[in-house]
Amino acid sequence: IERTLSIIKPDATRRNITGEIVARFEKAGLRVVASRRIRLSEMQAKAFYAVHAEKPFYGSLVAFMTSGPVVVQVLEGENAIAKNREVMGATNPEKAAPGTIRKDFAESMEANSVHGSDAPETAANEIKFFFSDLDIV
Ligand code: ATP
Ligand code: MG
Repeated sequence: IERTLSIIKPDATRRNITGEIVARFEKAGLRVVASRRIRLSEMQAKAFYAVHAEKPFYGSLVAFMTSGPVVVQVLEGENAIAKNREVMGATNPEKAAPGTIRKDFAESMEANSVHGSDAPETAANEIKFFFSDLDIV
C-alpha cells in the first residue's frame, strides 16, 4: 500500500468542484486518509514548488497557488502515486486523456485543478510538508 500527496488547486475550489474531484479519486480506489483546506502563504508555495524555481512559469505558478484556498490530501491505495497521476491526466489539459480530471475540469496548463506527487521520495517529502503522522488515519 502506497501514499501520495494531492492538492486540489485554487481554480477548482473557486468553482466549488472539490467533491467531484474527490469522487474521482475514490472511484479509482484511492482512499482519503488526511485532508485539510488551507490558504498557502507565498513562502509555502515557493518552498513547495522550489524544484521549479528556475522555470519561466514559477512566479506565475506561485501567484496562482496563493490566489485562493486549496485542499491538501493524502491519498492511499495500491500504486497510489501512479494511479493518482493516471486519474489526474497530463499536465496540459489539451493533451490529457478523456475521462481524466484535467481533461474534464482544468482551465489551462497552469490552472489545471490538481497536483499529485510524481515519485515515492517526492510523495514522502510532500506529505511531510503538510501533515504529521498523527493527521493520517
Ligand atoms: P503537478 O506537479 O502539479 O502534479 P505535473 O507534475 O503534471 O503537475 P510539473 O511539470 O511538475 O507538472 O509542473 C508543476 C505545475 O506547474 C503544473 O501542474 C502546472 O500547474 C504548472 N506548470 C507546469 N508547466 C507549465 C507551463 N509550461 N506553463 C504554465 N504552468 C505550468
Ligand atoms: Mg510535478
